[in-house]
Amino acid sequence: MKKIYLGIVALLLGGSMLFLASSCDKDGDVNIFTLQNDIDLGKQLAEQIASDPATYPVLSPSQYQESYAYLDAMVNSILDSGEILHRDEFTWEFKIIQNDTTLNAFCAPGGYIYVYTGLIKYLEDASQLAGVIGHEIAHADLRHATDRLTKVYGLELLLGMLLGDNNESTLTEIAKGLTVLSFSRKNETESDEQSVIYLAPTAYDARGAAGFFEKLEESAQSSSPPPFLSTHPAPDNRIENIHDKFNELGLAPGGTFASEYEAFQNSLP
Ligand SMILES: [Zn+2]
Repeated sequence: MKKIYLGIVALLLGGSMLFLASSCDKDGDVNIFTLQNDIDLGKQLAEQIASDPATYPVLSPSQYQESYAYLDAMVNSILDSGEILHRDEFTWEFKIIQNDTTLNAFCAPGGYIYVYTGLIKYLEDASQLAGVIGHEIAHADLRHATDRLTKVYGLELLLGMLLGDNNESTLTEIAKGLTVLSFSRKNETESDEQSVIYLAPTAYDARGAAGFFEKLEESAQSSSPPPFLSTHPAPDNRIENIHDKFNELGLAPGGTFASEYEAFQNSLP
């Protein structure tokens, strides 16, 4: 794997000038990748997912128009919160993956959002799903994946660039790794808080993500941790932090839309 990552920087950065310009992104974290790298990586991953229906059985948007229309309205209301740094630069596409046993959602760099039917069916109302989607959007918008790659592989990437270790499959390889990339606890706390901020101007209750974690806690004794927690390690006091952010912003309770949400669940296969 090392060799693979070494090659990536050469491919992505394409020259030392970019590295020398090693910059802070809009949220202040050091990230040696460019915004365009995030977009390219996400596009690669989206293409891999589209070409592997056995692993990622994406629900057909033309066949399940009602389901996609519901989610489209939800995603867009979050994206139109006025709080997304890269609203115009990123793609912001979403797909539903048909797998009822997987409690997960993820968002690739550049704004490619994936939600499993297992998660949709597990959750109880629209604010919970909006909260989780807000959390995922935050990972992409705050560029956590490439921040993380910068921290973990920064020096090696630099070496790889200098050595000119370069091949065409590197971008593909790194994109594959992104689906299992584990975020830091700081990333998780940030995304939880951003989720509250994004949902605040929407009709949804801004504490929605906390509802998901409360449900997970309730069922924790009877089942093994869901995949969501392997790529999103739980910081301490996650639920409490979300409520604190909500109170700090002086927000009023929003809607949960449980009956509409049930209709959405029933629109899925
Ligand atoms: Zn997360």
